[in-house]
Amino acid sequence: MNDQDAAMKARKFIAEVGTPALPVLVDTYASHIGGSVSRETLGEQEDAWSVRLPNGKYRICVNCAHSSRRQRFSVCHEVAHVVLDIPADHSTPSWSYARRSPGEIACDVFAAELLLPYKLFKPRVDSADIGLAAISELADEFEASLISTGSRFATFSRELCAFVLSEEGKVRYCARSTSLRSAGAWVKPGSLIPSDTLSDRARRGDVTKGTEEVEPDQWFEDWERDGSLYEDVRHLHQWDQTLTLLWFDDADLPPAPAQRQRWGEESQGLRELDGILPWPGKSKRKR
Ligand SMILES: [Zn+2]
Repeated sequence: MNDQDAAMKARKFIAEVGTPALPVLVDTYASHIGGSVSRETLGEQEDAWSVRLPNGKYRICVNCAHSSRRQRFSVCHEVAHVVLDIPADHSTPSWSYARRSPGEIACDVFAAELLLPYKLFKPRVDSADIGLAAISELADEFEASLISTGSRFATFSRELCAFVLSEEGKVRYCARSTSLRSAGAWVKPGSLIPSDTLSDRARRGDVTKGTEEVEPDQWFEDWERDGSLYEDVRHLHQWDQTLTLLWFDDADLPPAPAQRQRWGEESQGLRELDGILPWPGKSKRKR
């Protein structure tokens, strides 16, 4: 099952349960599948487990030692296992994106949809300022983690923006807005956080304040276009996770140099058709 299928099934599930209010009540999702939630002491790394009872109902048990936001996500994740009919593979820690199995990732996608429902979340993304402060406010409003909220913020943003999650200094995941995907911007998973960027310095313990302009080719692979790129960061020392938001200040990005040259040649072709020839030696437009 791909992420898109999981997201669509989650939206269908929300429609069945009824329009949620904010913050969504995860126990209502659980009861829709005949599940009851109990909060107990589990292993430190264990988020939750669920079991089907002889009467066909489910018992969902979440780790009471975890933060309430993490517990909310865990309940939605367990609901996902039941609705998507994906067996649990909880041998790897949930905070490590790098080591997640495809089934677990599908359940995470489903859970994020339940916790930050598209219909409620998208209008708030459209009206929010860009930056991690605004994402943090949305996370508070939806009672969701900064990682889930940031990832969905970038995915649904109308701006040219990306949310990058790095672990132990390596990029693990990058969510991009539709416009940034179309522009061809790509942060390679497995690559190191670019040196001397705001994110790199935050990870090294520098106290970072505000956003900073950064060269786009420091972050994006094979990037040849101009544009003013900005970077904002939060580093979570406890898990050595770096959360980076990148966005262009431009409404439209200038085309890549190769593309610009081609356009220049085309426009000269038109001038020749008009009978006005370019001056000799000025056949190439300046970049
Ligand atoms: Zn799972």
